[in-house]
Amino acid sequence: MELKQVNDQVWLTRVQLDGYGVQGALIRGETGVVLVDTLSHPSDMAPLLPLIQGRSLTIVYTHADWDHIWGTGGLPWEGARIIGHRACLERFDTDVPATLREKQGAQPHRWGGIKLIRPTETFSRKLCLDAGALEMTLHHLPGHTPDSIVLFLEKYGMLFMGDAVETPFPCLERTSPLSRWIEALDAWEGDSRVQRVIPAHGHMGGRKIIRQNIAYLQDLLDGRPPVITEPLTDFYRHTHGENMAFAGNLASG
Ligand SMILES: [Zn+2]
Repeated sequence: MELKQVNDQVWLTRVQLDGYGVQGALIRGETGVVLVDTLSHPSDMAPLLPLIQGRSLTIVYTHADWDHIWGTGGLPWEGARIIGHRACLERFDTDVPATLREKQGAQPHRWGGIKLIRPTETFSRKLCLDAGALEMTLHHLPGHTPDSIVLFLEKYGMLFMGDAVETPFPCLERTSPLSRWIEALDAWEGDSRVQRVIPAHGHMGGRKIIRQNIAYLQDLLDGRPPVITEPLTDFYRHTHGENMAFAGNLASG
C-alpha cells in the first residue's frame, strides 16, 4: 500500500490490483480519523494504524464493491463507526458475500483471510461528519452502483468520489440510472467550492474530470459511441465494451 500525505490532515491510500489501482483516503481531525474506503485486503491497512492511534475511528464505504471494503478487518474496527448508504448495508446480504465466495474459490491463498464487516450506520441522502474541528459531508450519488456516495471535505475543497467518476471513464452496471447519475454529477461540476476531485480509480484533478465523465455518460445516454482519445489498458477496453452494451440495453429496455 502506498501512503501519500497531501497536507496536515489528509493522506491518500492506494493499492495496485490486477490491471487497475484503487485509492482511498485518511482524514484526520483533532479528535477523530475518517477513513474513506478500506481498499481490498486487511494488510493494506497496516501503515495507517499509527495515524489512527489515540483518535476515534470512522470508516466510510463509498460503496460495497469488494476492492473498497475488504481491508476493514486490518483496522481496529470493533469500536469504530462504519458508515455506508442504506443500499450498501443491503448488499451485505446479497452480492457482497457472493463475491467473496467467488474470489476465495478462485484464489484461496490471496483472499482466505477476508472478513466482511458491515456498516454500523446508514443514511439515505446526506450525512454530516466531524472529525474534531474538521467537518465533511456524505452525499448519495447513485449511478455506478445504487449505493454509491461521495464525501466532500469543504475545508480543502476536496471531493472524494469513489467510483462515481473515474479516469478515463466510469463503469456502468446493467441497470445504471444514467440521467440521474448525470444530473448529480452536473451539480458537483457546477459547485465552485470543489477544487480537487479524487476518484477511487485513476488520477485526481479538477472538476474537468467530472465534466469528462458527464460527456461520456451523455454520449451513452444519447446512443452515440463516446470518442476516446487516450490509449486504454485492457481493463478499460473491456469496460468500455461492457458500458456500450449495458447502455444499449438500457435504451432498448
Ligand atoms: Zn471500484
